Amino acid sequence: MTQKYFQVDRINVCYGDIQVLWDTEFYVDKGEIIAIVGSNGAGKSTIVKTCAGLIGIKSGSIYYNGAELAGKTSRQFIDLGVILVPEGRQLFPNMTVYENLEIGASSKEAKAKKKETVEKIFEWFPILKERKNQQAGTLSGGEQQMVAFSRGMMGLPKLLMMDEPSLGLAPNIVDNIFLITKKIAKEEGISIVLVEQDVRKALRIANRAYVLENGVVRITGTASELLSNAEVKKAYLGF
Ligand code: ATP
Repeated sequence: MTQKYFQVDRINVCYGDIQVLWDTEFYVDKGEIIAIVGSNGAGKSTIVKTCAGLIGIKSGSIYYNGAELAGKTSRQFIDLGVILVPEGRQLFPNMTVYENLEIGASSKEAKAKKKETVEKIFEWFPILKERKNQQAGTLSGGEQQMVAFSRGMMGLPKLLMMDEPSLGLAPNIVDNIFLITKKIAKEEGISIVLVEQDVRKALRIANRAYVLENGVVRITGTASELLSNAEVKKAYLGF
């Protein structure tokens, strides 16, 4: 098997006695955006948490740039540039925007490049520059998602995983975040794994997608293939 840039190979993951992922596999090329879609409880968050080293696997492999990641600590995943923007943002509400961003720069390299990364982020999201000394908990939902995304970028990701970034946000805010997501994939070669319940939005930005049902990849293809797939249309696009 030729290994892809980031490749998840038949992983099985359990919470106690309950198995949630079943021989789940997908891959992402460098600079590619893939979406993992599916209904509530399909196992989407479990996939990205596993790929961030937060949950152990029972069997299978996670390869990144030719190296096996499974078994490494979440700290090592971060240091290698495999970074998760978690569902629900999980900011520190009493800390300022700037302090939340600083937390994302945890590796040695990210710390050294902190200033220039912050400058780039403030260009992408000028509102965060205006709000840099404001407590994160007082920001709007959209602004908080921008901070969560930017905190991930502070870690200088090679692979950025975003868990439900659009949840509860106005469409124009989501469009803005997705625009920047496309830009970093294209211009900086960062690979993106986007987990979304909103299948239509996800397929608008992704190159390829995987439909997950009960922890099993049921359908995969390019975004346009999935958009015209009768099953996907009926189950997820509402027509
Ligand atoms: P959602 O879109 O609702 O977040 P999801 O596709 O991300 O759903 P997961 O959060 O990965 O799904 O959950 C998959 C299954 O694993 C669900 O049945 C859930 O109840 C179960 N599960 C998730 N976390 C735990 C946990 N810590 N302990 C036990 N079971 C869990």
